Amino acid sequence: MPDPRNVIILGSGPAGLTAAIYSARANLAPLVLEGELSSTSDQPGGQLMLTTEVENFPGFVDGIQGPELMANFRAQAARFGTEFVQERATRVDMSSRPFKVWTGDPSAPEPSYTAHAVIVATGARSLMLDIEAERRLLGHGLSTCATCDGFFFRGHEIAVVGGGDSAIEEAIFLTKFADRVTIVHRRGELRASKIMQERAFKNDKITFLWHHTVDDLVGEKSLEGAVVRDVRTGETHVLPVTGLFVAIGHRPNSDLFTDLLDMDEAGYLKTVPGRSLTNVVGVFACGDVQDHTYRQAITAAGSGCMAAIDAERWLEAVGDAPETINETPTEW
Ligand code: NAP
Repeated sequence: MPDPRNVIILGSGPAGLTAAIYSARANLAPLVLEGELSSTSDQPGGQLMLTTEVENFPGFVDGIQGPELMANFRAQAARFGTEFVQERATRVDMSSRPFKVWTGDPSAPEPSYTAHAVIVATGARSLMLDIEAERRLLGHGLSTCATCDGFFFRGHEIAVVGGGDSAIEEAIFLTKFADRVTIVHRRGELRASKIMQERAFKNDKITFLWHHTVDDLVGEKSLEGAVVRDVRTGETHVLPVTGLFVAIGHRPNSDLFTDLLDMDEAGYLKTVPGRSLTNVVGVFACGDVQDHTYRQAITAAGSGCMAAIDAERWLEAVGDAPETINETPTEW
């Protein structure tokens, strides 16, 4: 496909690949920049590549492994003519159309690709504890999503790390499955809102381990315990948990768009409510990079569909003159 392309999709999680399926079926021959395997900041296939069993994605009665689900998404997008490259965008120029995207050296004079429309689906990442054992045990007792994985921990001893609203929300949710949930927090008071704090304090199944951090994890194939350290004394002991949920925040992968696209103070891209339109005409955003509320594969996939339809309608509305139209047509 010669440049400029109709549409470039940045990201290959559920949002990006659903956008690819829809735009490929609309004959737009999308190019997907999947990300690089070697990069720690992007994960081709998105966050589901780091999970094991997925039981809440509709259509799979018996559940499906996260990587298998994403392989299915990708094969479905490829079937309709999506082009994939295992590269990550290192620079984008959205000041004029066609939009310019660089991969590799961002100071190269010429962009790697150009396109009339861009769909941003770069996702978000859960902040992690930054310990070696995390990679080994993620999906094997260690999780970053109670909504996704809580069900697997019925009857387990569970701990949640963090002191914000996410940690409290996850802990309360997990009390549906466990008789005791320990919140491990590095300070002596919570950051969470008062109402969430009150709910946690009132819940008999929740206990707190204050002033502690998780320094290491025990277990080779599955989690057997968490090594916790009292930050006041330096003393460590093993918390005998078989489920550990890290809830210390998320970061949207939006650094590339600083000063280009409108974002909130946490870095989530702003879109027109109920749509995928960003502040730049011809640039659409979907999935976790613009959603700090739901953060589910199915909601990301749904918003990827919306972005593809918005991009398709926009391309159709501007016809042969995409470079000259400076307002988003509203009659869609
Ligand atoms: P957050 O408010 O940034 O809280 C992160 C928590 O993790 C803090 O308690 C922090 O400790 C702790 N933490 C950070 N790095 C850590 C590390 N390396 N080791 C141990 N602990 C660490 O993040 P969040 O809870 O995900 O919430 C993000 C935003 O979404 C907030 O505005 C929140 O109100 C909102 N939210 C709302 C709801 C709701 O209303 N239902 C639910 C979820 C999230 P310190 O306190 O010591 O900094």
